[in-house]
Parts: sequence; structure tokens; C-alpha cells
Amino acid sequence: MQQLPKSVTFRMPADASPLGFRQQPARTLLEVDGLTRRFVAGESAAVDRVSFVLGEGELMALLGPSGCGKTTTLRMIGGLEEPDSGRILLRGRDITRLPTEKRGIGIVFQDYALFPHLDVLQNVSFGLRHLPRAAARARAEEMLALVGLEGLAQRRPHELSGGQQQRVALARTLAVSPLLVLLDEPFSNLDAAMRVETRQEVRRLLKQAGSSGILVTHDQEEALAMADRIAVMEKGRVLQIGTPDEIYRNPATRFVAAFLGRSNIMPGVAEGMAADTPLGRLPLSRAANGTVSLAVRPEQIMIEPDAQGDAAVVGREFRGHDQLYWVQQGDRCFLVISGLGQGAAEPIDIGARVRLRICDCVTPVD
Ligand code: ADP
Ligand code: MG
Repeated sequence: MQQLPKSVTFRMPADASPLGFRQQPARTLLEVDGLTRRFVAGESAAVDRVSFVLGEGELMALLGPSGCGKTTTLRMIGGLEEPDSGRILLRGRDITRLPTEKRGIGIVFQDYALFPHLDVLQNVSFGLRHLPRAAARARAEEMLALVGLEGLAQRRPHELSGGQQQRVALARTLAVSPLLVLLDEPFSNLDAAMRVETRQEVRRLLKQAGSSGILVTHDQEEALAMADRIAVMEKGRVLQIGTPDEIYRNPATRFVAAFLGRSNIMPGVAEGMAADTPLGRLPLSRAANGTVSLAVRPEQIMIEPDAQGDAAVVGREFRGHDQLYWVQQGDRCFLVISGLGQGAAEPIDIGARVRLRICDCVTPVD
């Protein structure tokens, strides 16, 4: 991969990137400042000084392992949990102590929380009771059309698939035009294939409705695929916030490198923008000095058969679109992913001697 010189700055209009992925949020919608919640006195906080800013129309993912404080953060934003300290501002207004229903925030619950005795249209109309009947019906029908469920208006929730129930829940939430939609693990009740299909659909629906959203997930693939920006959390803290690309390419810590995709961690001695490593002298993605740990993505490493090579293939896994290799070099084992696309070499056998090369910069972590 060609590395661009650091001095070049690209000027890109806010919405120029494809698929509506924004580089920088336009206007601030939500500001979360130092949000903290401790459930048990004396123990560490479930949510610890979490701060971030969400732009108008932006979709952000809170990503992290189970128990890291994602749901608690979302519940505080939604008004379902009181913070011990910190502030939540929505369009500049302090909503920290405001009841849920006064916040202008819609919540899609993990189990969808549909009313079983109401049909689809009644479920979607639920938040529109203040409107004249005809107007409520028209709005609900508009929302059902948006989520592609026009034909199922008379069905009860139990007569729908999981994916359809979720779209009803989304339609019900979007019907009241919330400023912000909160989604907590919205795909966890769907099977793997449905999940992949539904996540792009949900992203499209939110974007089409002009909604801003916060998505809670422990699934890195989901966060990378759906979010404009990701906040990676561990133990109640936000470790890094950035676009999927930034976080994947330039993880701030070892935890982020390992949690978002796979990484090889190798030692190195850094001097500014370069480091000496077991794979030779390599450019760094950010400056460092002294002994460092370096994260290298498996797909950044090139593997070449070489009878004189100083490494050997010790394991192999065929994955259809690519090949995984475990390669032993001295006392270190590297994971390498080699594409099987056009022009790719023949698979390399276990036991074969090889040479490893990196033609990209590596990232100092921790
Ligand atoms: P996540 O959604 O990332 O899995 P949560 O926000 O649900 O994490 O939980 C964060 C931590 O707070 C966990 O250790 C969890 O056990 C604890 N916790 C969450 N809710 C409560 C509660 N109501 N009472 C006590 N502890 C809680
Ligand atoms: Mg949770």
C-alpha cells in the first residue's frame, strides 16, 4: 500500500465522501461531557468520565466488550439512568436531569418492546396519539413505507420475523421525529445472515430519515460497517474516537488494535517516524521514541516463498476469499492474511521457507 506523505493535506467538503460517511460532523447535536456512573460505592465506575460529541445527522457506534459501560452510557443519554456527574447537552440545552419523554430522544430496545396486542400500524402510531386521527394514520403509513412494511400493517408482532419486528420498532421510533435515535445491540436477536443484511438497511433508513443515532454494539464488524464514527470503550472509559478507517489504521492502544480486527504485536526501537523491528526498519504512522510495541495488521504483511528465507509457514487456514498463514520467524509467530484475488500466488505449503515483508507503516501502541 502506498503511504501518502504526511505533509499533504486534502481538502474535502464535509459530505464529499461516498455513502454519506462524513469526515467531520457538521453541526454539534449532542455533547456528552464527563459522564460518570458508579453502581457500587468503592468499586470502579461502570461509566468513567465519558465525553464525546455527536454531529447532526451522524451515526456513532459505542463499541466495546460486554460490561464496558455501553448500555449504561446510552441509558444516561436516554434519561433511563441518572449520572453521578457529568453533563448531557442536546442542541446546546442541558438535558442531564430531564425526564426521558421531554428529551426528544427515541430509543430502540434490544427486544424491540412492541405491544403484542396491537397491530403493526397501531404500534407505529403509538407515539402519535396527540395528532388528529387521520394525520397520525398518514404519518404511520409513511413510516411503514419507509421501512418497507406497507403490506403488513394489520399483522400482530408475533406474525412477523425478527427483522420485520425490528423495522416496526424503528418505524415507531422515527415516527415522532426524534432529534436522536438510540439503538442498543439492535441486531442481537437476528441470525448472522439477517444481521449483515439488516445493518445496512437500518443505516440507510436512519440516513434517509435525516436522523442522528448512537448504536451500541460489541461487534467490531458491525461498528466498522455501519458507523460514521466509532468510540471504542474499555472498563467504562472511551479509549479512542474516530472514523472506522482511522481507528482501524491507527489504533491508539494495544486494546483497540486487538479489539478491532486482528493485529500482530511486535517489539521495536523507535526513533521519530521510523523503528527497527524484527521485520526490518519500518516507517511509523505516528512518532515515537525508545522501546515500543508495534501493531501490524495481518494483511499488511507480504509473504513470499524463499528457500533462503528466515521464516517458515507453520499453519494455514483457507477462507475462500483469502488465506491465513501462521509464520514462525525466530521466536515470534506472525499471522499473515494473503488475498486470493487476481494475480495472487499459489497457496504456500506448511513447512515452506518464506520471507516476510511490510510495505506499509506500522503503529506504535501503548
Ligand atoms: P455493556 O452494555 O457494555 O455490556 P453495561 O453498561 O450494561 O455494559 O454495564 C457496565 C457495568 O455496570 C457492568 O459491570 C455491569 O455489571 C454494571 N451494571 C450495569 N447496570 C447495573 C445495575 N443496575 N446495578 C449494578 N451494576 C450494574
Ligand atoms: Mg449492553
